[in-house]
Amino acid sequence: MFFSKDIGIDLGTANTLVYIKGRGIVLNEPSVVALHKETGSVLAVGDEAKQMIGRTPGNIVAIRPMKDGVIADFEVTHTMLRYFIRKAMKKNPGYFYRPRVVICVPAGVTTVEDRAVKEAAVQAGAKEAYLIEEPMAAAIGVGLPIYEPTGNMIVDIGGGTTDVAVISLGGIVTSRSIRIGGDEFDESIINYIKRTYSLMIGERTSEEIKVKVGSAIKMGKKCEAPKPTNTSKQQFSFEEEAASTKEEEKKWTLGEDRQWKLEEDPPEKSTVTPSPEEQLYELEVRGRDMVTGLPKLITVTADEINSAISEPISSIIDTIKICLEKTPPELAADIMDRGIMMAGGGSLLRGFDKLISEQTGMPVHISENPLNAVALGSGKTLDNIEVLKRLTLSNKRMG
Ligand code: ADP
Ligand code: MG
Repeated sequence: MFFSKDIGIDLGTANTLVYIKGRGIVLNEPSVVALHKETGSVLAVGDEAKQMIGRTPGNIVAIRPMKDGVIADFEVTHTMLRYFIRKAMKKNPGYFYRPRVVICVPAGVTTVEDRAVKEAAVQAGAKEAYLIEEPMAAAIGVGLPIYEPTGNMIVDIGGGTTDVAVISLGGIVTSRSIRIGGDEFDESIINYIKRTYSLMIGERTSEEIKVKVGSAIKMGKKCEAPKPTNTSKQQFSFEEEAASTKEEEKKWTLGEDRQWKLEEDPPEKSTVTPSPEEQLYELEVRGRDMVTGLPKLITVTADEINSAISEPISSIIDTIKICLEKTPPELAADIMDRGIMMAGGGSLLRGFDKLISEQTGMPVHISENPLNAVALGSGKTLDNIEVLKRLTLSNKRMG
């Protein structure tokens, strides 16, 4: 006996997630395809293909077909989508018989792209395919009360795009979408290191720098603390750094209660207990010296990286501000009250929530699981096909 189980897919610019009703998220892989340059044949998709980025010999290319937030390369997107749907179905054999598939796509896809994605789903075995815009799926995924007559603002910072939307009564009231996201931070870091140290680094290295020491706000040297095991005995000694940074601008520090504070509430030295990722202030980076052509090691600091990525950060903040300006006053008042909800991998950049809050004057929350928000949202819509039909871009039945 076959059961028809429905599938939700977050077709992201950086990562694709597949959700199966009753099972949850069953697949989470990079949206990358490796192709043979001459024949165009697909060599690998997902995790395996991402390993190849920057490491491919001459005749192999690793492509991110969704990179710019729209379906830049139909053929490859098609192949990738089919691969992920089939893989999810294979992992759950006997579970499917022509499932319904909900696909979350970046806001603003064209009709042609819309059709291409649906066709790919049908070719992969779907009975029907529906498309939902990502900000809507993200809002549902993080549990915002989108059907109520209140303003909900969602900011989804993905790899290639940032979507900002205000949702009320199940519809998008105002939205802005820009082709700037986490990838742009990586590029800014590559350029900065090239300019400053004449060092070439790859995309994967720069992403690692961003995740480990990247920050949206100035850190000061506070986070360079050694790992404390016990706050009473092993106190950090910040005196020297504190003395040397006193005259500088105010710095954010992470308190024991895991709330960020401005330095002027003097941080109790002994209670600053950053988690291992957060305490990184410096990172050793390997790359190729552009002058000698040889491998070289340099050290970068959080504050340097903060300056390096300031441009894309400002663009994202400007987009949020514009969207707020365009929001009807009643809804803006709701947002002031309830705050802005952040989702997407880019929202994990250290201190981004604080900076947005500071710049907009609104409370800002990061959703519990920002990388999964869209996929979970697609899953929730599967529970109610009527709601789904109302939300989808076009509910024409395919196949
Ligand atoms: P998309 O929906 O476009 O596929 P995601 O929501 O999956 O994108 O987010 C991917 C982006 O988030 C990438 O640019 C990645 O480098 C970034 N990212 C993931 N984790 C972190 C982190 N801890 N700090 C900063 N950026 C992160
Ligand atoms: Mg996304």
